Amino acid sequence: MTPASSTSYTDAARLVLQRCDQLGSYSEEPDRRTRRYGTEAMRQTNEAVKGWMLAAGMQPRQDAIGNLVARYEAATPDAKTLVLGSHLDTVRDAGKYDGPLGVLVALACVERLAARGQRPPFAVELVAFADEEGLRFHTAYLGSSAFTGVLPHEALDQTDEDGVTLREAIRAFGGDPEAAVASGRQRDDLLGYCEVHIEQGPLLDANDLPIGVVDGIQGQTRAALTITGVAGHAGTVPMDLRHDALSAAAEFVAAVEQRARNTPNLVATVGQMKVEPGASNVIPGRVALSLDVRHLDNPAREAAVADLRAQAEDIAQRRGVSLEWQLVSDQPSIECSPRLTMLQGDVVAAAGHTVAIVSSGAGHDAVMMAALTDIAMFFVRCKGGVSHSPAESVAVEDVAVAVEVLERFILLLASGGDAA
Ligand SMILES: [Zn+2]
Repeated sequence: MTPASSTSYTDAARLVLQRCDQLGSYSEEPDRRTRRYGTEAMRQTNEAVKGWMLAAGMQPRQDAIGNLVARYEAATPDAKTLVLGSHLDTVRDAGKYDGPLGVLVALACVERLAARGQRPPFAVELVAFADEEGLRFHTAYLGSSAFTGVLPHEALDQTDEDGVTLREAIRAFGGDPEAAVASGRQRDDLLGYCEVHIEQGPLLDANDLPIGVVDGIQGQTRAALTITGVAGHAGTVPMDLRHDALSAAAEFVAAVEQRARNTPNLVATVGQMKVEPGASNVIPGRVALSLDVRHLDNPAREAAVADLRAQAEDIAQRRGVSLEWQLVSDQPSIECSPRLTMLQGDVVAAAGHTVAIVSSGAGHDAVMMAALTDIAMFFVRCKGGVSHSPAESVAVEDVAVAVEVLERFILLLASGGDAA
């Protein structure tokens, strides 16, 4: 199968952006864009997307947690299935493209296939996840964890800021909480999962490239540190008798930056710090700080975390302060399928673009989908790498490239370009 040149990719991209604008108008808050799981804004969003899916000849349904699932069937029964998708919820004060762009680019490809009456030898299953950001229940990947069958039963008792449980929210959204924790999608028929997403980083923009092929999603370790020294009078305690918790924390922050600068592709961040008692004339007695360490290579990340912990202990000992180190989360990196990544490179080159391989520093639904099937991702350049902000911006030309490469990817798989 080869791509048809009939309707232009630019026309498809314009429609994708128009739809992003429309979905972008659905918000819980009048002056900023916020769509949490199960809200009226999410219901409006699902309704609109459902309408477009129906018009494309698919039969959309909402699953037990509220993900929209629609299939474009293969020419023959009992065919395999390629899953495409991304999420429709947002962070607070969000942009228009993080999530919806991936759903709508995939939909555009199905619409183009349908318009030509072209049916690949596999079904295309489009999934619009109902929650990825986890804003309402502080559970990232709510939609894809239910879809893949790993949502724990205890999660149903979690409450939002108004005391509404997830169980109640699922019911109010037309779902079935017990089914949401009990049933994951069958994996036997799956060929793989491919997600298009804005890059959320500056590399493509800095290198003037419209599209990137993702090789994996970085692992992440988060820790919470508490350094306890001795508070005292800023005027009366001489420097050599102090046990200043903030000075120790500052030394650690500099060590974190240095460790990451000295290790290729390691990123490490101290993003939160709470100083107590927090007065200009009092020596800080206690500091609580966060640590976030990410790398695509798990041993490299683990070594960095172990080293930073040793450095923190050394700093504490030298300065006569105590250190508490609490591991908050430890997620290994997820590798994209090398087989699919190679095919992605082929289609990007066939479309006339430089093949850029990038790693994702942010988490995506693909992380959850990796438990079910091979995963692949395309990143679309976003202006300045800005995301999770109303300033998110993508160019129509780049979205046209995204539609083209995803379509070429589907057709390459369909033509048996997939040797495996
Ligand atoms: Zn996203």
